[in-house]
Amino acid sequence: MLAPNVTSALKEALGPDAVFEREPMSAHTTFKIGGPADVLVRPSSVAQVQAVVRICRETAAKLWVIGCGSDLLVADAGLAGVVMECGERLARITVEGTRLTAQAGATNAAVSEAACAHGLSGYEFACGIPGTVGGAAIMNAGAYEGAFADVARELTCVDGDGNLVHVSHDEADWGYRHSMMSDRGLIVVEATLELAPAPQAAIRAKIDDLTARREAKQPLDMPSAGSTFKRPEGYFAGKLIQDAGLRGYRVGGAQVSEKHTGFVVNAGGATAADVRQLICDVQDRVRATQGVDLHPEVRMWGFEA
Ligand SMILES: Cc1cc2nc3c(=O)[nH]c(=O)nc-3n(C[C@H](O)[C@H](O)[C@H](O)COP(=O)(O)OP(=O)(O)OC[C@H]3O[C@@H](n4cnc5c(N)ncnc54)[C@H](O)[C@@H]3O)c2cc1C
Repeated sequence: MLAPNVTSALKEALGPDAVFEREPMSAHTTFKIGGPADVLVRPSSVAQVQAVVRICRETAAKLWVIGCGSDLLVADAGLAGVVMECGERLARITVEGTRLTAQAGATNAAVSEAACAHGLSGYEFACGIPGTVGGAAIMNAGAYEGAFADVARELTCVDGDGNLVHVSHDEADWGYRHSMMSDRGLIVVEATLELAPAPQAAIRAKIDDLTARREAKQPLDMPSAGSTFKRPEGYFAGKLIQDAGLRGYRVGGAQVSEKHTGFVVNAGGATAADVRQLICDVQDRVRATQGVDLHPEVRMWGFEA
């Protein structure tokens, strides 16, 4: 349980309308799953992000950072500590020439639309990734032969002491779903992208094409966290799961999607325990039938080891 002085310090720094006690994480994850966070805060400036980091450091409160919660499975018992949502209150986008700068809470959809409106190409790949720029930067989100690292030039981050740190493209050390910022626990507050001028009609056509491809293949009408497993070298997770006979396999309200076997969906009333058990069952079955280890891409928070 969080000490009362933490909540009062957060209210003083951010204002009472930015601090939510016992906030259900099911309202902040695309899985629609997760118990309450002790406190959830919504900063609306970089200075407020720094203040939250300093308060947590001084009070030894655990700090969790989220964007849209589209890559998270939060335990049914919830999260002890402070959840900081870098979301719609921290989502300014500016464009200067071919450079687009977005605060961490800007959604990928908003960034790709802003780029299109300015006749700038390069971020179309991310139009259907339902997360924020902060989330995309941390894990080098990617789709359809594009990845965040391809267009990112510079980041502004906040370190564990609440100080601003500038990170160049090379320092970010992006790899497949990996970054230096993730390793070092840096909080991304802003990203600058270098895009390329292109006819607006061509950019729009690409966004429409990628959107149609997603809608055709992915179970977008059901809550999920996207691809549940990382792509194993030389294989596709969805194909391995399908070949293991697990299409539609259920544990409680959690289900291997009928439409795309790489997705676990919340088919109605799923608990985090259901999803976690299903993930273990899939791993066991794929290992036993095909000798391949699947590793979750979805981050699991609040579970006992
Ligand atoms: C239907 C669907 C389709 C998807 N398709 C794709 C896809 O094609 N490609 C892909 O890569 N992913 C995909 N995903 C997964 C997910 O959308 C991405 O991983 C996305 O980048 C996560 O961003 P987020 O803002 O939701 O982060 P969250 O899920 O909120 O957080 C994920 C991680 O990022 C960290 N984080 C978030 N914001 C910050 C910040 N500002 N500073 C520091 N750390 C931060 C969190 O601490 C956490 O570790 C999909 C998900 C869904 C539901």
